[in-house]
Amino acid sequence: MKNIAVIFGGKSGEHEVSLQSAKFIMEMIDKEKHNVVPVGISKDGQWYTGDDVREGLLNKELRGKPISIKLFGKNKGFMVKEEDSWRELDIDLVFPVLHGTYGEDGTLQGMLDLLNIPYVGSGVLGSSVAMDKGMMKEVFKSQGLPVGPYVVFNKYLWDNEQENQVNKMEELGYPLFVKPANLGSSVGISKAKNREQLLAAVEEAFQYDLKLVVEKGLKARELECSVLGNDDLFVSTVGEIVPGNEFYDYNAKYIDDNSEIIIPADLPEGVEGQVQELAKLAFKGLDCLGLSRVDFFFDEDGKVWINEVNTLPGFTSISMYPKLLEASGVTAKDLVKMLIDLALNRHGAMN
Ligand code: ADP
Ligand code: MG
Ligand code: MG
Repeated sequence: MKNIAVIFGGKSGEHEVSLQSAKFIMEMIDKEKHNVVPVGISKDGQWYTGDDVREGLLNKELRGKPISIKLFGKNKGFMVKEEDSWRELDIDLVFPVLHGTYGEDGTLQGMLDLLNIPYVGSGVLGSSVAMDKGMMKEVFKSQGLPVGPYVVFNKYLWDNEQENQVNKMEELGYPLFVKPANLGSSVGISKAKNREQLLAAVEEAFQYDLKLVVEKGLKARELECSVLGNDDLFVSTVGEIVPGNEFYDYNAKYIDDNSEIIIPADLPEGVEGQVQELAKLAFKGLDCLGLSRVDFFFDEDGKVWINEVNTLPGFTSISMYPKLLEASGVTAKDLVKMLIDLALNRHGAMN
């Protein structure tokens, strides 16, 4: 029996999504082999454990027992508060089910490295590079992957040389996609068709991050591919997202229920293989481990562009990551088992 801490919630804008993913993953863990320890993080960053923590967070309440992390000393690790004393919580492996900052971005991964606790998914570098859309694109470019035109600037540049930044963006040509560098789930992303919308979009995105990535809007279909593995990679069939809204925004992803998922995507000869190959290159290029969903654009001229890598993708029963693998013969139960084994194997190889 291994004690697996499934960590969910968290301080990011994707807190609610994480609660949904965690439910599915906890259901899929084989209870004969493993003991699930639910660990919930509130929006203000407090950690709790207990069987009703997730339900509590759904109702915006704190339930369960407080957790604290002891980073140094003999009994370092997860500590749980019972009555008035702290007891060590025995954790063999962590399954981080946190999307966005303080979970998908390498911070949690670094802490777990210091604690010497194995965890599912990418390490510090892969997680942090994939979380920052500006850094991610730099790495894609250096690896020769097809990245669409974009500019990156921070609040300092915006405050000090706005005109220059506006010119650089407009040179790309409208429509433009304005994104906070460090987020996901389309939070803070807007499509701008003219200068007025662009300025509003920049203001909006700065609510979420001090660094923005602005991209030329591509007229393209959206393709996604799941990657599974550490050294030898398994790639899924390629799926297509047909957003119900003008683009695949937060509402289209989680609220409106008007987007369509097509698995496998109906593509011209050779495109699926091309996407799968690029997905593997991107995964390796960013130093990913375990799992990632790699997202692409397929434009009207038949060219494939890489959009992003998500190192902890949405993981509910209707999410693309598990669905693509299921369509490729890997059931959700097997998938969760493989991710746990990959994490344990990787850790074994490190020590
Ligand atoms: P997130 O990490 O939040 O999912 P993405 O970069 O994937 O951010 O952008 C979210 C959505 O916005 C995409 O799924 C797509 O619908 C749209 N989008 C983003 N960038 C572009 C682009 N350059 N051209 C066309 N559509 C885009
Ligand atoms: Mg993303
Ligand atoms: Mg995306």
